Amino acid sequence: MRLLIMGRPGAGKGTQAANIKEYYGIPHISTGDMFRAAIKEGTELGKLADSYMKQGALVPDEVTIGIVKERLLKEDCKKGFLLDGFPRTVLQAEALDNFMKEQGIALDAVLDVNVDQAILIRRIVGRRICKTCGATYHIEFNKPKVDGICDNCGSPLTQRPDDTIETAGSRLDVYDKQTAPLLAYYKQQNLLKSVNGDQPLDKVFDDIKEVLSK
Ligand code: ADP
Ligand code: AMP
Repeated sequence: MRLLIMGRPGAGKGTQAANIKEYYGIPHISTGDMFRAAIKEGTELGKLADSYMKQGALVPDEVTIGIVKERLLKEDCKKGFLLDGFPRTVLQAEALDNFMKEQGIALDAVLDVNVDQAILIRRIVGRRICKTCGATYHIEFNKPKVDGICDNCGSPLTQRPDDTIETAGSRLDVYDKQTAPLLAYYKQQNLLKSVNGDQPLDKVFDDIKEVLSK
């Protein structure tokens, strides 16, 4: 299965992607996670990405498209993949379409996790992540068993530097201007499947399984 998961920052893409990865047995490819890993490693890519991410701006298209293509050519993507946070611009979506055509593959569905803007700031500023295994928590809505510690690997949880009120506002604006037009793009291709992301985590996943079974 070849899938995209879309939605505003904080909609729950990463959280649901972890469920989808496990249930459907496909790799979860998050461009945000790839950039955060590069920042942690201190690579040139990481330094470049960091300069955009801390302002809530998008990393340039040519850089982002390059890392995604390289990733999709890896062996584990032969059985399918779930892209999370990519594409975020029409140019990225067109590049992905061209790349998939060259490879003789196509998307099966584009999931849109729909959440009202008003809820998102609270979700974003309360998000905590595990830098070791990538798990995502929330200080109110999805608490770890022990405060500040990852359930999966026992590492301390941290807050993403771009999860401040100020940066979250810019990221939501960037979504509306640059990424929201993609919903019409995929609707036109008859691929778009929307789910209500303003529900308990398990219910959102049940709805995802249901729309993907149709
Ligand atoms: P995204 O990847 O779309 O930016 P995340 O999956 O990281 O979003 O979720 C953002 C925050 O909201 C996280 O702290 C997560 O634990 C929390 N969250 C995700 N889904 C839900 C939900 N259905 N209800 C309440 N909180 C949620
Ligand atoms: P995310 O983890 O998806 O919330 O992404 C965090 C940040 O990484 C974004 O605010 C951007 O700065 C950058 N980023 C992630 N994916 C992309 C993309 N497809 N295009 C450009 N920038 C991206």
